[in-house]
Amino acid sequence: MFDAEKIREDFPILQQSVHGYPLAYLDNAATTQKPKVVLQSLQHFYATDNANVHRAVHTLSERATHDYEKARDTVQQFIHAAAREQIIWTKGTTESINLVAQSYLRPRLKAGDEILLTAMEHHANILPWQLVAQQTGAVLKVVPIDDHGTLSLKDFTQLLSHNTKIFACTYISNAIGIINPIKQLIEQCHAEGVPVLIDAAQAVGHLPCDVQALDCDFFVFSSHKCYGPTGVGVLYGKQALLEAMPPYQGGGDMIHSVSFEQSTYAPLPLKFEAGTPNIAGAIACAAALRYLSSLDWQAFSAYEHKLYTQARSTLLDIPGLRIIGDGHSREHAAIVSFVLDDVHPHDLATILNAHGVAVRAGHHCAMPLMKRFNVPATTRASFAFYNKESEITQLIEGITAAKKLFG
Ligand code: PMP
Repeated sequence: MFDAEKIREDFPILQQSVHGYPLAYLDNAATTQKPKVVLQSLQHFYATDNANVHRAVHTLSERATHDYEKARDTVQQFIHAAAREQIIWTKGTTESINLVAQSYLRPRLKAGDEILLTAMEHHANILPWQLVAQQTGAVLKVVPIDDHGTLSLKDFTQLLSHNTKIFACTYISNAIGIINPIKQLIEQCHAEGVPVLIDAAQAVGHLPCDVQALDCDFFVFSSHKCYGPTGVGVLYGKQALLEAMPPYQGGGDMIHSVSFEQSTYAPLPLKFEAGTPNIAGAIACAAALRYLSSLDWQAFSAYEHKLYTQARSTLLDIPGLRIIGDGHSREHAAIVSFVLDDVHPHDLATILNAHGVAVRAGHHCAMPLMKRFNVPATTRASFAFYNKESEITQLIEGITAAKKLFG
């Protein structure tokens, strides 16, 4: 059995009260909290090793470079990539997708080409494609979802064509928690010769991810959603694709030689890492992944699923409450998005905050999804393995109080 109380000892931020209540942090889809090992890693880097990477022979720079490159190996192992050169450090999911849109796709696009997305994408997996479509005359096509938030595989099959130049799809919806059948989607795309980018921002901290087993062409995530620091993330790509792509940004560290007439570039992965990277962030991201690796994944994912099913069933008992994207299946992450008659999500989140409960109210950077369900916003409770059943009770008590106030 998974021991959430014990795990919570690793997360100092959780040991606090908000407005006189124990903090119930249920905003994990926005960002996760950091275990002590991550905080210690950041402190250790700046206190003992801080130097720029790849540039100097002095001891601190050697240490910084060693740990930064070792962190890349940790990511490689964590997502089961074949080679360390396939791991590019970025600022996060958003930058990783922009990089693929501009460096991989843009040179390959012509007017009338199609970019296939789904109706449940985060804005980070819409806007970069929309920009490249505007730049080239390509068009966006969108796979619709049903009233439960499930992707329509029939429409997916119909929309996939020889005009499709990439399919970009979220593994788990940040707004409603649906887990997409990405293995099947990738296989179908490859049968048509279409490359696939997987937005794994919500997946990496919750599901085991194996990029070789998935056979995805690109795979992106953010450190801060899997217990690491903000401002750092990863782009994984198939080596041949990355090799063929031009640099995304120019600057220091990504070059082989520079002259005013002509420059040549560093090999992978540095070709895509212009400028001083988030060195401490990358090292601490690896600390987070090592921490995750030390946990019993079967136990914690079963525990997260139990929190989800409990939250779902208690929420559904509340009159006037409707869950958006209420999947019936196991294919649902520990994210519950809902609307409540007579209470606006922002008012509800404010009342919940007064009860010590941190949830997210709004469109969750998924405005097209909100439109699909005909709601301006939802309230979202998103769980991690350090959450407790008592926090679901606290959530329900806060909702009951809000209903009394506004109902
Ligand atoms: N995709 C998904 C599914 C997300 O949940 C998020 C973050 N909410 C992003 C992309 C963007 O991540 P970041 O802001 O860390 O770049």
